[in-house]
Amino acid sequence: MFKKAGAQLLVLIVDDDEVDYLSIKKILLQAFRPDQIETHWIRDPAAIDLVAELQRYDICFIDQNIGRQSGIDIIRQVTASGNITPLILLTGVDDQWVDNKACEYGASDYLIKDQLTAQLLNRVVRFSLAKKDHAKKLTKLAYTDSLTGLANRGKFDQELEFSLATANRTSNYLALLVIDLDNFKIINDRYGHPAGDAVLVELARRLLLAVRKSDIVARLGGDEFAVVFNCYKHADDISELKDKVLAVFQQPIIFKQQPLYCQASIGVSVVTPGQANNRIEEVLREADNALYQIKHKGRNACLFFNPKMKDSLAKAAALERALSCAIANNELYLNFQPKVSVADHSVCGVEVLLRWRNQFGEIIAPGVFIPIAERSRCILEIGRWVIEQSCRQLRAWLDQGLSIVPVAINISPLQIEEQGFTEHIISTLAKYNIAPEMLELEITETALMENISQVTEALSCLAKIGCRWSIDDFGTGYSSLSRLNDLPIDKIKIDRSFVENIETSESCKKICNIIISLANTLDLTLVVEGIEAESQILLLPLSKRDELQGFYFSRPLSADDLIAYFGACKKTPRASG
Ligand code: C2E
Ligand code: CA
Ligand code: CA
Repeated sequence: MFKKAGAQLLVLIVDDDEVDYLSIKKILLQAFRPDQIETHWIRDPAAIDLVAELQRYDICFIDQNIGRQSGIDIIRQVTASGNITPLILLTGVDDQWVDNKACEYGASDYLIKDQLTAQLLNRVVRFSLAKKDHAKKLTKLAYTDSLTGLANRGKFDQELEFSLATANRTSNYLALLVIDLDNFKIINDRYGHPAGDAVLVELARRLLLAVRKSDIVARLGGDEFAVVFNCYKHADDISELKDKVLAVFQQPIIFKQQPLYCQASIGVSVVTPGQANNRIEEVLREADNALYQIKHKGRNACLFFNPKMKDSLAKAAALERALSCAIANNELYLNFQPKVSVADHSVCGVEVLLRWRNQFGEIIAPGVFIPIAERSRCILEIGRWVIEQSCRQLRAWLDQGLSIVPVAINISPLQIEEQGFTEHIISTLAKYNIAPEMLELEITETALMENISQVTEALSCLAKIGCRWSIDDFGTGYSSLSRLNDLPIDKIKIDRSFVENIETSESCKKICNIIISLANTLDLTLVVEGIEAESQILLLPLSKRDELQGFYFSRPLSADDLIAYFGACKKTPRASG
């Protein structure tokens, strides 16, 4: 009728009076068949962990007067502690106040003892169970990620809170793993959303298999998962479990007979027994921080949070705060590094390099602050500022009759993803009356391959009007050659690290040669940056149209120094060897 055939309804009666208990039991046995129901009695609820006990029962009747305690208070307490078992309050007399409070504190119903009949109890029990069932279904919907069936963010927060409290009580280890997929965007872009969905569903299934029933697996959003290892006695257990989770990402996922490889970066925060009263925000922040660090170090790996990270993170947070007002405080400025042609070492353009002198007069390297700006997304505002200032500078040079073009600007992938990016470039070019051919945009090889649809759109749109595109740090990412061939790219910039080691490392030399012949084959201009000595140039089989950049020719310069350099170069262009 209300339970599966053969299943019994387990009823708890909390009452300090045995006669009352027996009388309710008797009516319940009349209300249901004896084989349908089993009743248990608790005389003193204060003597046990009632919240835990209630989990075993289908329904519970609580007397309003239990010694010094009131049934209403008990209901309030257990409801606040997360009880979901229906609770029915029993009182001796009809009392409006008790009625109201019972309802407010979460009782399913309120019954007067001497009015109980079998019919009434049968109805009340059935309705309470149906209500609970309904509420359970709704809760499940609200707390479940519809694609993977895993707990969603809301459920996860609740569960983690509960786990932390349990770890605290039981002196066990707890570990939180925050998992971020490394190349999910590529899968989505390249194979379509059904493939992306299939990957998420399969990874969720594997994660559930990799952990124990008592652990938690959740999808926090997009391509981010979380796992909580509950109640472990030894720290070593966690290390083993982490390996199991890493193994989930080693096997390809087969989608339409095609193997898809999706790897992950994992940040771990371990709560040790002594410090188990950590707050949920803190544990999450620690795991996030470890994840952030591992993402920057190289992906497809796992990193445990350690307190030393706290210092570097505090520094990063301080930088982030300072950076957010750097534009307003006039702390940002631009440097320009000339590029020279291989043919005669004449200046054939400049790269704009952003600089930050903070309020204490310290110069902070872009290698340090750009990733922070990207993380906080203030790179969007900074990026727009760089475009605006670069165009303004170029206009000033043009007005002085100087043709230091093209001007190459570094573009962060976040900028390309932002709506209105191309429009901003176009309107800025118009504002300063600059021909699009004078502007070159550099994006890294990794960005080119990661945000395929947006990048393709931005590249095509701006290339159509005449802007040039250059692929930065080439050789460090994973390029699809067909994509390189299809996109409207003008130049590739071989990554500095290969040139740096060209004289000592045979493999760097080989890579340089491969990239040079690739550029030739695809009919792209090659830019070699990081040239610090003539001997490096001599090792490179470059063609005359290729370009060179590096300290050997000039360090990044202020706008004024660049004019001086440009003037000097014009007088004495060197012939290449
Ligand atoms: P990048 O785009 O690869 O820029 C070239 C970097 O190499 C610059 O470092 C430059 O000063 C340095 N460099 C040039 N020649 C040599 C050389 O001969 N030897 C050595 N050791 N280094 C050389 P910088 O200015 O520190 O910039 C670092 C990175 O910061 C840039 O790498 C770029 O990724 C980023 N960045 C700089 N300005 C901007 C900007 O306006 N927007 C964005 N999104 N990123 C920027
Ligand atoms: Ca660059
Ligand atoms: Ca570069």
